[in-house]
Amino acid sequence: MMHADVVIVGTGHGGAQAAISLRQLGFEGSILMIGRDSSPPYERPPLSKEYLSGEKAFERILIRPEKFWQDKQVDLMLGVNVSRLDPAAHELSISGGEPVTYGSLIWAGGGDARRLDCPGGYLDGVHAVRDKPDADRLMAELAGGAKRVVVIGGGYIGLEAAAVLAKRGCSVTLVEMQDRLLSRVAGEDLSRFYEAEHRAHGVDVRLGTGVECLVADGDRVAGVTLTSGETIPCEMVVVGIGIVPSIGPLIGAGAAGANGVDVDEYCRTSLSDVYAIGDCAAHANPYADGAVIRLESVQNAHDMATTAARAICGDPQPYDALPWFWSNQYDLKLQTVGLSMGHDTTVLRGDPASRSFSVIYLKEGRVIALDCVNAVKDYVQGRKLVEARASIAPELLLDTETPLKAML
Ligand code: ADP
Repeated sequence: MMHADVVIVGTGHGGAQAAISLRQLGFEGSILMIGRDSSPPYERPPLSKEYLSGEKAFERILIRPEKFWQDKQVDLMLGVNVSRLDPAAHELSISGGEPVTYGSLIWAGGGDARRLDCPGGYLDGVHAVRDKPDADRLMAELAGGAKRVVVIGGGYIGLEAAAVLAKRGCSVTLVEMQDRLLSRVAGEDLSRFYEAEHRAHGVDVRLGTGVECLVADGDRVAGVTLTSGETIPCEMVVVGIGIVPSIGPLIGAGAAGANGVDVDEYCRTSLSDVYAIGDCAAHANPYADGAVIRLESVQNAHDMATTAARAICGDPQPYDALPWFWSNQYDLKLQTVGLSMGHDTTVLRGDPASRSFSVIYLKEGRVIALDCVNAVKDYVQGRKLVEARASIAPELLLDTETPLKAML
């Protein structure tokens, strides 16, 4: 039987950073990372951006060169699935291998791309964009001549994929069941701006319509039938409709949680010596007024990893990191800071027609978040406003002549 002082499950941003932070904090025990993915830890955001477009080769998206893990004495067990957790024995069951025991466990399992639950959802030519194999399959089909693509889901994944595909000359239809894009994460101003941009780049954006079924030609997808009854012929479908947190073994072992596994401010689950971090960790976020949420971002994975590592090293510090996120589409760089959920007022700073502007979100008169499009200064200076929960009059925020930092 194998044993490690810290076992990390998941080789995404959270898992990799947990190992890095442990060593940075001087942890000298053994560390084992176990991952379903057969590649060493790599960055996920480029999969729907520069990796998908071919601008960045795989080596350039590795979180660290392979040799780093050897040098830091972090053992990698790749291409392996953890199927069961016995919290009393501190033991994990591994697909096709010996069980592994741990001193502490950091669960950084992330999530699985949600699949379409309609007929045809599993046909060939239907792709998620969650891991490298997904992106590789998609790129292989593009190289093989796929031209007409239907993207399902108007969140960041769907929009980034649509932008890359449109730039490659594909004919792209984007289907979003809500009446605007990005409805889960952004306000209406940003939604309408991105809708116009995608349309201007030739993407056929369909709002307020879901998918009835996928049409098959043999085993392959040949079209998408919308709830409106219309069928859009295509050679390929890209699905970006969110994730299902990957927490089965934890919940099976009795950990508290439902949509994600519940963690406290030190990323501890209800099971002793078991931590959870990243996309799958439901936590009370100070930037959401303490509401229990999951955050799907590199920032959250990274900062929670450090929180768990500190707790394991005997220097616990509560998680209170400022949320931030980015998205690249066409030549637009969006940077967001804070969490806009629960806002009651939005201020549009700058003119979207200039393609450089910010949306500022307020709650009870205080700045809680910004979405900045090609507006790095607003982003950098706006962080301070969010941290301070600054109370600033909307008329002042509107004034692009006055830098945000002067308003504090
Ligand atoms: P992601 O991170 O994959 O972009 P989000 O949850 O942010 O995930 O966005 C997913 C989007 O997909 C949401 O805007 C949601 O309304 C939309 N969506 C979910 N299911 C369907 C569906 N069956 N058809 C069309 N749109 C969908």
